[in-house]
Amino acid sequence: MTPVPSGILTIDLSALRANYRRLCQEAATSSVGAVVKADAYGLGASRVAPIFYEAGCRDFFVAHLEEALALVAALPADARLFVLGGLFKGTETVCADANIIPVLNSLDQIADWAALAKVRGDELPAVLQVDTGMARLGLSNVELLTLLDKPSMLDGVRLHCLMSHLACADRSEHPRNTEQMNRLRSIAPQFPGVPLSLANSGGVFLGKAFTADLVRPGIALFGGAPHGGRSNPMNPVLRLDIRV
Ligand SMILES: *Cc1c(COP(=O)(O)O)cnc(C)c1O
Repeated sequence: MTPVPSGILTIDLSALRANYRRLCQEAATSSVGAVVKADAYGLGASRVAPIFYEAGCRDFFVAHLEEALALVAALPADARLFVLGGLFKGTETVCADANIIPVLNSLDQIADWAALAKVRGDELPAVLQVDTGMARLGLSNVELLTLLDKPSMLDGVRLHCLMSHLACADRSEHPRNTEQMNRLRSIAPQFPGVPLSLANSGGVFLGKAFTADLVRPGIALFGGAPHGGRSNPMNPVLRLDIRV
C-alpha cells in the first residue's frame, strides 16, 4: 500500500535569506556566520548552507567532523567549515586534508593540531575556545594560564578567532552575559590581532560589545526566537500543512 502523506512540511528558502540579512543588520560591522549543526536544526544542512552562502555567509559551524565532511561538497571552496565539538584524537589528518577548521577546546587538542602543522611544515588554521562560564567546552582557566605561560604551544597554528559561548544569551538581562563578555575581553589582549566571537542568536541582540567580530547564530536563522519574553523578530521558515 502506498503511504498517504499525512502532512506537507514546507521550508521557505526566502525566509532563510531574510533571516540571514536581518541578523547582518543587527550585527552591524560584525561578520555573520551560520551554525548548521544537527543537520541545520533538522532542516537539511546541505540544502540550507548554500542559501546562506549566496546571502554572503562564509563561516559555517557544525558540531562534529562528520557533519563538516558531509558539507564540503555543498559549498564553494572559499567557505570555511568549523567543528565546534573539537578535534578528536586520530582525526587530525582527515580534518586538515579536507580544509576543515577545528575549534580547539583543550591543551591536548592544541598539541595535536600543532604537531600536525609541524610535520607538514605549514600553518594550520584553528579557532581557540575558552570557557568563560558556560563550563561546557573550551579551555578552563587553568589550561589558559598554562597556554599563556607557554605560547609556543600554538606554534604553527593560525588563529582564525578566539571564541566563547554564552550560557544565558536568550535572557538579555541575565548578569552572566556581561560577566562572560568581560571575561573574553580581558583574555583578548593576550592574543593580539585575533578576532573575537561570542554571540549565538541571543547574543546578536545584546549589542556591539557582544557581537564583536564574528557572530554564530543558529536557531534565529531558522526562525526561532533569539530571546525569550519579547516578540520574535525572525521570519518563520517552516510551515506544516496537515490533513484533518
Ligand atoms: C549551537 C551553538 C551556537 C548557536 O546557538 P543558537 O542559540 O542556536 O543561536 C553558537 N555557538 C556554539 C558554540 C554552539 O554550540
